[in-house]
Amino acid sequence: WDANTVAVVTGSNKGIGFEAARMLAEQGLTVVVTSRDVEQGKAAVAKIKEAAPGARVLMHQLDLANAASVDGFVSWLQQEAGGLTILVNNAGFAYKGNIFGAEEAKTTLDINFAGTRRLTEKLVPLLQGPCPRIVNVSSRAGLRSIIKGKDLLGRLTAATSPDQLAAMADEFVAGIRDGTYGKQGWPSSMYGTSKLLVSLWTAQLAAQLAGRHVMVNAMCPGWCRTDMSSQSGNKSAAEGADTAVWLALRSPQDFVTGGFWGERGSISW
Ligand code: NDP
Repeated sequence: WDANTVAVVTGSNKGIGFEAARMLAEQGLTVVVTSRDVEQGKAAVAKIKEAAPGARVLMHQLDLANAASVDGFVSWLQQEAGGLTILVNNAGFAYKGNIFGAEEAKTTLDINFAGTRRLTEKLVPLLQGPCPRIVNVSSRAGLRSIIKGKDLLGRLTAATSPDQLAAMADEFVAGIRDGTYGKQGWPSSMYGTSKLLVSLWTAQLAAQLAGRHVMVNAMCPGWCRTDMSSQSGNKSAAEGADTAVWLALRSPQDFVTGGFWGERGSISW
């Protein structure tokens, strides 16, 4: 690996994303840090450069919930770096405590699923090299078993396009609004639902890009000590980033796509 390989890690101002960006920089790649807050992004770059002296580390603002921010990031990346070989979709959001409601579900789905999808679809045309990689940081909170309705699970797993998944995300939000989500088989986890959609979409994207030799995989970092878990996990953020970086740097000879991974192993989900 060298600085000609560009790796974008979203939400890398802190937590698992920061550790993934640091590890990729230590391997000599050009790393693009993204942060909702520019000052936090700059501070992360300084820390990564300290850990990996001489590394090429770029930074740009990115808020997945804001279409203009996504567009601004993509055109900046094209100008600044020409494209990318590795995309680690790490940025994610979860409400804390017992917060649950239609608006909150929409916000969660907009960031974790729709926002990640929007960014990825704009970056796919910029993927470079013989074997680009997309790593989606999902979660075991979104295993298929969280869906209690057989019919609903059948429809989710049979979906062949992200638009179909997006329509079902809207059904979840509408079901929360009118109180029928449980009867339809949806769980009361907004975050879990958003991550299930990320994992289902990952498999779709892998199939769609297989002809272009792109490795597209989802992974769960495990329960990590980050702000998301209020620092309560049993793994460090760096341990959580390990499998994401392992997938990102996998040799083309070990081509895998459409999988769900944790602790460097395949997870049945
Ligand atoms: P953190 O809360 O520490 O970091 C989350 C990152 O995502 C931050 O950089 C945050 O930015 C960014 N982010 C949040 N919302 C947006 C948005 N709208 N647009 C762009 N960036 C955004 O959490 P983790 O490091 O733990 O989480 C990283 C990933 O790992 C997430 O996808 C999470 O769901 C997943 N995960 C984490 C687990 C854990 O135990 N920690 C377990 C399973 C999965 P900002 O600082 O501005 O808020």
